[in-house]
Amino acid sequence: MSRRRDRPAPAERLVIGQMAGVVLASFLAVVALAEALGLPPGLERLIEAILLAVTAAGGMWWLMVRPLRRAAGEEAFHARLQRALGMAMSEEEALEAMRRGLEACVPGSPGEVLLADSSRAHLERAVAVGPGDAGPGCAVDSPAACAAVRRGQSMVFPSGEALDAGPKLRGRPEGARSAACVPIAVLGRSIGVVHVTAPDGDPPGREAVARLESLATQAGSRLGMLRAIARGELQAATDPLTGLLNRRSLEQRARALRGAGVPYAVAIADLDRFKALNDAHGHETGDRALRLFARELRAAVREADVVGRWGGEEFVVVFPGCRAEDAAQVVERVRERLRAALAAADTPPFTVSVGLADAGGADADLAALVTAADAALLRAKAEGRDRVVVAARPRPLEAAAA
Ligand code: GH3
Ligand code: MG
Ligand code: MG
Repeated sequence: MSRRRDRPAPAERLVIGQMAGVVLASFLAVVALAEALGLPPGLERLIEAILLAVTAAGGMWWLMVRPLRRAAGEEAFHARLQRALGMAMSEEEALEAMRRGLEACVPGSPGEVLLADSSRAHLERAVAVGPGDAGPGCAVDSPAACAAVRRGQSMVFPSGEALDAGPKLRGRPEGARSAACVPIAVLGRSIGVVHVTAPDGDPPGREAVARLESLATQAGSRLGMLRAIARGELQAATDPLTGLLNRRSLEQRARALRGAGVPYAVAIADLDRFKALNDAHGHETGDRALRLFARELRAAVREADVVGRWGGEEFVVVFPGCRAEDAAQVVERVRERLRAALAAADTPPFTVSVGLADAGGADADLAALVTAADAALLRAKAEGRDRVVVAARPRPLEAAAA
């Protein structure tokens, strides 16, 4: 195993050897031919000088022009990769840019990107390239099990059969392979690895590893940025105590539903005598109770229902496509779940009162429906709390006139 390959690849070594052999053989041939033909020393010198100049030009090209052209090519590759990742506005788009970047790094070879999940306990295949888009299929399943991730440095394994080959490289079904593994880091923390394999004994060369490192570095910083933005957006949209939507984002969601012409029922839930719970058990216990209620509320409703913390110990649920009576049945389920959860938890028992309203086929905004649901909630409180009340719909004009 070696960290980086500093020697030319076997194919390059072969070309260098062949060139040196051809030059030496040509030189000896010219000298021998000149002697045999008895050429005048001047002409012999001229032929030797021409041969020397051709050799020098070839050497100059090999030693100076070729590396410069390569360096320019590499710079262009890094710049293209940076542009591709820079245009990715979501993690999905970043993964697609990484897939194309990986293909360009090791054309035709099996390659993959494994990323840690949110718990950082597992590595999951996020990108795979190569024959059949199957990737090399590395069996490493956690960041701790990957030597490159653990060490935070690139590793090249020239042979899968070598004494110091990576444990996950040995015994692969496709036979012995060489490999390169480059960790992907965000702010110094490894979050994944780029892994490619090549024929046994002919591992990815220095240039390929440098490209993979560029891919890993740039992908790491882009993923880090996109995740930070997503985290910021989530924080701005949610209530920090319960993780539910905050009032502003709930209002936005309701506006979007109304804009799309989707009618909805609204429930406003208010925990009963919550001040007394806080006074008796302390604010921390009150917070725990709020979190417990939020969890049960979210779990009891459909995925499409919009649940938010309206403020304090009040919660609002928007039920798209529901009448208030249907939503009332769901709310009864919430109350059941709450009772069961409280029986199992060490949180002091509490109840909830709920008011419900819908627009009854008319057009009403969230504020109007919350006002109507709030009036029903006041009735629930007045009637003794721990109950659900549906707001009476205003009677249609024709019905009232009849
Ligand atoms: P009611 O049954 O009439 O609703 O009585 P209540 O005590 O629940 O109503 P009140 O409006 O008098 O008090 C609400 C309490 O909710 C007061 C406040 O301390 C508590 N509360 C509001 N927000 C939070 C919070 O974030 N954490 C905790 N622990 N308590 C909160
Ligand atoms: Mg209240
Ligand atoms: Mg209350």
